[in-house]
Amino acid sequence: MTAEPVIDGQETLALRGAAPASGDGASTTVVVPPPSVRASLSPSRAADFKTCPLLYRFRSIDRLPERPTVEQARGTLVHAVLERLFDLPAATRTPASAGDLVAPQWDRLVTEQPELAGLFEAGDEVGPAEFLRSAAALLEGYFAVEDPSRLEPAERESLISAVVDDELLIRGYLDRLDVAPDGALRVVDYKTGGAPREAFEARALFQLKFYALVLWRTRGVVPRVLRLLYLKDAEVCDYSPDADELLRFERTVVALWQAIEQATARQDFRPRPSRLCDWCSHQAHCPTFGGTPPPFPVAAGAADPLTDARSRPAAPGADE
Ligand code: SF4
Repeated sequence: MTAEPVIDGQETLALRGAAPASGDGASTTVVVPPPSVRASLSPSRAADFKTCPLLYRFRSIDRLPERPTVEQARGTLVHAVLERLFDLPAATRTPASAGDLVAPQWDRLVTEQPELAGLFEAGDEVGPAEFLRSAAALLEGYFAVEDPSRLEPAERESLISAVVDDELLIRGYLDRLDVAPDGALRVVDYKTGGAPREAFEARALFQLKFYALVLWRTRGVVPRVLRLLYLKDAEVCDYSPDADELLRFERTVVALWQAIEQATARQDFRPRPSRLCDWCSHQAHCPTFGGTPPPFPVAAGAADPLTDARSRPAAPGADE
């Protein structure tokens, strides 16, 4: 399954806001899991296992630390600006006002995540000023493909969840959900990374289908459009799923979780080398690169991968 990239410089779908997000953070559309639920899975961690089972283990079971990269921090910053942009009155959502949000949002992020302050060291090619300029440049890419003055997103940075197969909770954070006057849903995901498109697009669409499945199961509506906005290249990639496809996808997610459970029981997570290894923080522990994984944690059960579902993201398969 491959979505055709569509160059779409004009926003044409009239949208209305169903439930504006609060100005200070995420909104939520979550279910209260029934007692039968015994595990949860986020799209990031599911995609990790699909990409490389050993990577899943390093992140979800060993919980090895990953130092944020400049690219990830830039993605986090741009996402924060785009979320706050929609707090402004529609007519004032201009490139200049988005640019004005960059520095204050960066200050807020550094306050909340002090490790970001250590991102730049003396002599680095990219210093703080250049970093902020590069984030502003990505925002220009955003304005090349969308006019936010014509949009009122229904939800931003929204936590959504659903139960599948009676015992698996799937959930994650949407960048944005648009609802058209006829009730049609459009899931929007911002991409800021400069990684090779072909290496990352399958993961990005997996993530969007994950959200589509949650929305279908909780609202009974198959999203009309799953949209990837590539800010660096100012491109739009639209994909329209159907119910049969989401049904198959649901079986895939359940099978994936069963495979994770089996691997955990056997303590057997194998490396699956690919070009995404270039973005992996754990080469030093990976046998593919001559490393040795740490001892398998004694108490590791089927780790709940949800705890870092909101983290934005880490390589490989960066979601930024
Ligand atoms: S370096 Fe590659 S093979 Fe090794 S854990 Fe990372 S993604 Fe997997």
